[in-house]
Amino acid sequence: MYTELKLFIDGKWLNGEGRKGEDVVNPATGKVLGHLPHASKADLDEALAAANKAFPLWKATSAYDRGKILRKAADLLRERAEKVATAQTMEQGKSFAESRMEVLTSADIIDWYAEEGRRSYGRIVPGRMKGIRQLVTQEPVGVVAAFTPWNFPTLTPVRKIAGALAAGCTLIIKASEETPAGCVELVKCFADAGLPAGVLNLVFGVPADVSEHLIPSDIVKKISFTGSIPVGKHLAALAARGMKKATMELGGHSPVVVFDDADPEKAADTIAAFKYRNAGQVCISPTRFYVQEKGYSKFVARFTEYAKGIKLGDGLDKGTTMGPLANPRRLDAMESFVNDAKARGGKIQAGGSRHGNQGFFFEPTVITDVPDDSKIMTEEPFGPVAPIVPFKTFDEVVQRANSLPYGLAAYAFTSSGAQAMAIGDAIQSGMVGVNSVMISTPETPFGGIKESGYGSEGGIEGLQAYMNTKFISQG
Ligand code: NAD
Repeated sequence: MYTELKLFIDGKWLNGEGRKGEDVVNPATGKVLGHLPHASKADLDEALAAANKAFPLWKATSAYDRGKILRKAADLLRERAEKVATAQTMEQGKSFAESRMEVLTSADIIDWYAEEGRRSYGRIVPGRMKGIRQLVTQEPVGVVAAFTPWNFPTLTPVRKIAGALAAGCTLIIKASEETPAGCVELVKCFADAGLPAGVLNLVFGVPADVSEHLIPSDIVKKISFTGSIPVGKHLAALAARGMKKATMELGGHSPVVVFDDADPEKAADTIAAFKYRNAGQVCISPTRFYVQEKGYSKFVARFTEYAKGIKLGDGLDKGTTMGPLANPRRLDAMESFVNDAKARGGKIQAGGSRHGNQGFFFEPTVITDVPDDSKIMTEEPFGPVAPIVPFKTFDEVVQRANSLPYGLAAYAFTSSGAQAMAIGDAIQSGMVGVNSVMISTPETPFGGIKESGYGSEGGIEGLQAYMNTKFISQG
């Protein structure tokens, strides 16, 4: 049932023969699912040469024809959704329903870029002198090196692949070694849709070895990374040494502000469901909950009730609403957050411990009475732990929400139009959901500010990220 894991270089699928590699583990059982080959240095050089050779051809292919191949890949992904979602749940842990939704959304993203690639318009600027025509055009940047993490095995790679290919770039992607099947299946769809050899290459390996080989290469002109802030800073520095364009989609610590004029129970239902999606291992997951005093106890009661009603289990089992954490590192991290909170007077309203004796399960957890300088209120949890604290005034909550170095996502609930506008403006964040958690769609920009990174994926910004602006003055 699980995918056969291979590298894809210059249009050829390569297996483990003679290569180093690693086992991929099912986080629900701890059992080995398959063996993943690592690309050797020679493989990486071959991928670089292939992407470089394919670039002029792919750039010269019309956006209309590129779009046809992309749309075919999207159709294949939809046809294969059950199989891809099953493999993804086995390696990552999320429930099958979430996995299937991720795969279908990935197909939508490809379709959207297939169309948007045809609209990379330039403009004509009136000249200062008679007989001068001033053209502003957009050109693909060239070969892209992309790096993706383990929490969305299909969705995160697809944003980079579809944006780059639609723009006319070629690509080498290093997907997560812990959850490789989602990206292997995705790349298969592009290959089977007729993508020319070398346009898209998939490699795996020791992450630092691969990035430190690819990023400094003269062939690579653009870097795109999704992952943690420390790794993002390291890769951004490597890119800067070659003055290369980079998109950095890093971690966050998303504040949620619930004002007195919102219905606290309705807000709790909406945001708790969003919080425990993918066991909280989502960069835009709501992670710090500030509730104005009047609605505080009702919000906490309803949120806690939701957390206690979650059915933990293998993502492939019917009825499971939350799967395991993706790896044992997250389990250790959750214990450390909970222990620190308890030591500082935090009260555990739900969960707080590991669950079962196989796999990497952690209970949906709610903590109250934690100080603002506790670990859970200052470090990205990336797991199913929700701290809820009260606040008094607008200015106070804005100051607390903006006090961290992160700025990826934020959420607010209010019934006042004026307050909705004021909080949307006041929060320092790349994305703000006011009475809405719909902040990630194919057609809207997705990205952070402050230490959460720079650049956007999604929307027209996600296409422009793979293009250079050129000015031509023509006499
Ligand atoms: P980590 O920092 O070791 O790795 C994060 C990701 O970066 C992984 O996918 C890893 O394979 C990759 N990576 C690590 N070193 C790399 C390198 N030198 N070159 C290229 N890629 C490299 O942490 P982790 O234990 O995997 O995850 C923990 C933290 O990472 C989380 O708490 C969260 O903050 C962050 N994270 C963020 C996202 C996101 O969507 N923004 C996704 C996964 C993890």
